[in-house]
Amino acid sequence: MEKNTLLQVWPIPAFDDNYIWCIHDEHFALVVDPGQSKPVLKYLEQKKLTLKGILVTHHHADHTGGILELLRALDGSVPVYGPAGKDIPGCSNVVHEGDKLEITQPRISLKVSEVPGHTLSHVAYFANMQANVVEPILFCGDTLFACGCGRLFEGSPKQMSESLAKFAALPKNTLVYCTHEYTLSNIRFALAVEPNNFNLITWAQEAQALRKLNLPTLPTTIGQELQVNPFMRCDQSEVIEAARQVSGRSGALAPTEVLEVIRSWKDRF
Ligand SMILES: [Zn+2]
Repeated sequence: MEKNTLLQVWPIPAFDDNYIWCIHDEHFALVVDPGQSKPVLKYLEQKKLTLKGILVTHHHADHTGGILELLRALDGSVPVYGPAGKDIPGCSNVVHEGDKLEITQPRISLKVSEVPGHTLSHVAYFANMQANVVEPILFCGDTLFACGCGRLFEGSPKQMSESLAKFAALPKNTLVYCTHEYTLSNIRFALAVEPNNFNLITWAQEAQALRKLNLPTLPTTIGQELQVNPFMRCDQSEVIEAARQVSGRSGALAPTEVLEVIRSWKDRF
């Protein structure tokens, strides 16, 4: 009988602050958003893993730059999953909202969500609990960060708002694997929005301690982000009030308007 090994998810650091997440069992691996190939190849060799697939969330070069080199170095074709729209180098399997990817090596079932905002064709991959996955896991690319969200390069505040609402509806214990270590600077901004958020103040101390030891602050969880991430809290009175003050607007602000105001504030912060 085949042993049911629990899947592991480990960060492979790339560039200055990217994480290429590697999902693997004892033999087989998938990587998410390989912006570089060398650190991935080194990791696979160290852990004696065979790469069986590449998941891509969006077209930016720091998420896709290593794909073709990986395919060449592995001397064999592995599926490359990615969104429609902008060309993803080497993409063999275009994915859409609601697609279910049933991957056998390593065994994992992933659901695709379209989450436009950072780019128009951005997707996320979600795995609910299954035989070898003990907590739900989400690969959200540059849409959601610990205490922040992606810059709106292509999409509108409304699209980002709807994308974040999809994440907010996931189980609270979902582990969120963001692709950048932006947490400390995001926390500095979040504290400007909500200086009295006790959970945020506590998290600031914990995150600083982790970074002092050069440890990742990720994964975060959906439950945690709902408590500390201003972009997930656009319906909370302190966040609305901060948006009113910054924009000089009075009266009721809808969550999408709040997101628009604090996102452009963050761009200037
Ligand atoms: Zn990006």
